[in-house]
Amino acid sequence: MSSPVIDLHTHSTVSDGTETPTELVEAAAAAGVDVLGITDHDTVGGWDEAATAAERLGIALVRGIEISCTFGEAGVHLLGYLTDQHDPDLMAELARARASRATRLLRMVERMADDGIPISHDDVLAQVADGATPGRPHIADALIANGVIEHRDEAFEDWLTDESPYYVTHYSPDPVRAVELIRAAGGVPVIAHPFTRTRVDTVTDALVEQMTAAGLVGLEAFHRDHGPDEIARCRWLADRLGLVLTGSSDYHGVGKQNRLAENTTAPEVLATIEAAGTGVTAVLRP
Ligand code: AMP
Ligand code: FE
Ligand code: FE
Ligand code: ZN
Repeated sequence: MSSPVIDLHTHSTVSDGTETPTELVEAAAAAGVDVLGITDHDTVGGWDEAATAAERLGIALVRGIEISCTFGEAGVHLLGYLTDQHDPDLMAELARARASRATRLLRMVERMADDGIPISHDDVLAQVADGATPGRPHIADALIANGVIEHRDEAFEDWLTDESPYYVTHYSPDPVRAVELIRAAGGVPVIAHPFTRTRVDTVTDALVEQMTAAGLVGLEAFHRDHGPDEIARCRWLADRLGLVLTGSSDYHGVGKQNRLAENTTAPEVLATIEAAGTGVTAVLRP
């Protein structure tokens, strides 16, 4: 049998993807993915629906999250695989982030509306699925619905960037604390796209060292936001610190160009991730 296709970073409508967890799993099965990771921003809300769909379609499911963290000026996205979905400390932190995201989004909309952009609170709220983690892509979706733009990408060229005058921050944990929370919840932390080229500030070597001391397991090296230099830097850090390298699509349905399985993770790396979890939340296999 050829090597399984393993894609460990995707989003559904439970955060800023455009497909429901069921549709996401269906799309993954159709794309030939054998092992799918669902990693919605700051929530485990899609896990149960994805698990039902994965069982029906006969594909394996790795239940995960992607936590937005802040370190100084730098945004750091931390994937957490196989965490206990009932861990009170982790769940409280995620709930705090989601609540802050909701108020922050409305403040961004106010700034945009004050500047004459045709958008309202209700327009944006209409784009967020019930209970989903709100994010900037939902503002873009409201602009699409209002006929202002045609694709999310256009809004992210200026209005929705971190440098935009409309940008407002939201509460997000320190990345070392987030690693500790994921580990304490029995999960496996991996930094998502650590050196994303479109960001002004990304993680420093010193931060990766601190996160490793706290229990970091891997770096997502193979991702469309990384070129050869970023991948080489991941390899260098991983060799030095004993981390594994993952690869994934960061699929968001039609909301982003990223295609399922455009980057993948090696089976032995998945085995390391699985072994590093405490097993409260298992990889679901058909
Ligand atoms: P937020 O979570 O509110 O900080 O918004 C950031 C999210 O916007 C990221 O997780 C990306 O998924 C999404 N995003 C960033 N750039 C783009 C883009 N060009 N097109 C669509 N979505 C994007
Ligand atoms: Fe996203
Ligand atoms: Fe991310
Ligand atoms: Zn992501």
